[in-house]
Amino acid sequence: MNNFEKLVEINNIKKYFSMSRGRILKAVDDVSFYINKGETLGLVGESGCGKTTLGRVVNRIYQQTEGQVIFEGKDISHYSKKDYKGITREMQMIFQDPYTSLDARMTTGEIIAEGMVIHNLYKQKDRTNRVFELLNLVGLNKEHINRFPHEFSGGQRQRIGIARALAIEPKFIVCDEPISALDVSVQSQIVNLLMRLQREFGLTYLFIAHDLSMVKHISDRVAVMYLGSVVELTESNDLYKNPLHPYTQSLLSAIPIADPILSANRQRMLLQGEVPSPINTPPGCKFKNRCPHASGDCSEEAPILREVSPGHFVACHLVN
Ligand code: SF4
Repeated sequence: MNNFEKLVEINNIKKYFSMSRGRILKAVDDVSFYINKGETLGLVGESGCGKTTLGRVVNRIYQQTEGQVIFEGKDISHYSKKDYKGITREMQMIFQDPYTSLDARMTTGEIIAEGMVIHNLYKQKDRTNRVFELLNLVGLNKEHINRFPHEFSGGQRQRIGIARALAIEPKFIVCDEPISALDVSVQSQIVNLLMRLQREFGLTYLFIAHDLSMVKHISDRVAVMYLGSVVELTESNDLYKNPLHPYTQSLLSAIPIADPILSANRQRMLLQGEVPSPINTPPGCKFKNRCPHASGDCSEEAPILREVSPGHFVACHLVN
């Protein structure tokens, strides 16, 4: 993977929020990774682990507290609003909830064309043709152009959200849990659509999800996040065959298996305890109160994300 051209790179990103009484919420705490052109990096973790905040920092919706965001080799961490306008054309976002992410007062055509208007792309007539083209591309049809979001199903609304993201021909899309709110039967249709569009347009994705089963099909590599930190990162196949971090192992053991015999023989790794608060986290490994392998070292020193085999990074004192 390292020989591929990097499109996005983040270095030591921290995103902290100030709370009442001087407390600090460390939503993202020193995260680094890169995404190659045309690649999908899956970003997985339980709700509240910081993955959506990180997606928003990468996509420049949030300004980082510390660290660097590099896009196409340029450090864009401290771009002014004016500079960002060019970058926002290259980076788009597909949101989790197709019911709230579309403006209920706008027609489908207006929603999809909004980015073209903001970036002053195409003449009016050409914009309409482009909207028709996009509707077709995402599996909707011309008749949908004057309808309002409430007239569509969840899957169709997510298709509108995808058409909106594609309208200005971005290179990079943060897909923030784009299938979590959809029926299981519709989830694979949306994943397949995203994969087809990626092949057609050479898109690069950061695909955020809360469980590993959702990212398996679409991701080239997967990063697992726990309480603001990446605890494991490797190629997708490697992660599913050879998970090394106890947290990844527990997430994988929670994925339902369709085969009843395999399912009955599988050892489930149930996590004890609650996810600690990201406010004033105690020293040592953040996973220590839930980890079945925790020892004395784990309370004293936070493990660093290290490369334990080519391209496979793990943050755990037990993994060499
Ligand atoms: Fe468990 Fe210790 Fe590894 Fe943390 S460092 S995951 S507590 S064994």
